[in-house]
Amino acid sequence: MGFDDARRYLRQTVGRSLELVCITGGEPCLYFGLVADVVGEARAIGVPGIWLFTNAYWAVNRTAASRKLARLKEAGMTRLCLSADGFHQPFVPVARLRHAVAAARDLGLEIVLDVRFLGPPQEDNWTNQVTRRVLEELGDLGDAEIWQGQPLYIGRAADTLLPQVAQRSGLPKGSCPGPWAGGAWGNPAGVDVDLYGEVTLCPGISIGNAKGRSLSGILDEYDPQRHPTIRELVAGGPKRLARIAQRIGYTPRSGYASECHLCYDVRRFLRPRCSSELAPLTCYEEAVSPSGFPLMSRS
Ligand code: SF4
Repeated sequence: MGFDDARRYLRQTVGRSLELVCITGGEPCLYFGLVADVVGEARAIGVPGIWLFTNAYWAVNRTAASRKLARLKEAGMTRLCLSADGFHQPFVPVARLRHAVAAARDLGLEIVLDVRFLGPPQEDNWTNQVTRRVLEELGDLGDAEIWQGQPLYIGRAADTLLPQVAQRSGLPKGSCPGPWAGGAWGNPAGVDVDLYGEVTLCPGISIGNAKGRSLSGILDEYDPQRHPTIRELVAGGPKRLARIAQRIGYTPRSGYASECHLCYDVRRFLRPRCSSELAPLTCYEEAVSPSGFPLMSRS
């Protein structure tokens, strides 16, 4: 996302008592200057909570960690959220997390460790073994919060992680957990805005594109009952969405890992028919680069 877009979206929220801005990626610190500028812009409009999710790859030593975080704190950042688990540590040494935690503590920043397991935490797969080892190596983190969760089996996770996850046969019967920022579909606690301007309530469920319209207008006009996908999720969860899709040719899989996996699989099928409400395409399709590494595509 370019700075001009980020600034415009932030300014369009003025007057809405925005409590929190959270900067995520990918890895946002690949664009460190941009992150600092967006943090500063969020503070300029008076947002009280400004969070950054990062894997701390940049904390190569204590001095570098302190320098980077001091700049972000000065710009207005209030909380550092660090990804720490078997998905990240094969690429980022645990020592860098330690440097980031120590520097953040010295600066008085709130610290959160965002830890994902693959399946139940006690399950003995390779990812969980690494995650447990990372937590042991980090040791006592004092008053840092630890958030434990699962990856959502949507997007690339559905294609790459599902072979390692137990799946139940039949359509999962449970309801939708709700918008990813919390709250309820009728009153979501937040929205995500991606680099294409898509304003989403769950990855791939768009309520408008802020590049073409004002973010404020999109929020004002949002009505779950007028959204073809959200309306059905509210009424009967992913299973209801699947039944609708079956009428137009969707063939259920033999099993699903979760309600979200079913929801994603059905939405991927429905997307060509609801292209504005189920954007962006990046959430549904992927291409493979010449190196064999999956890349998200957008056409
Ligand atoms: S069921 Fe669908 S809309 Fe609900 S949280 Fe899961 S992926 Fe999102």
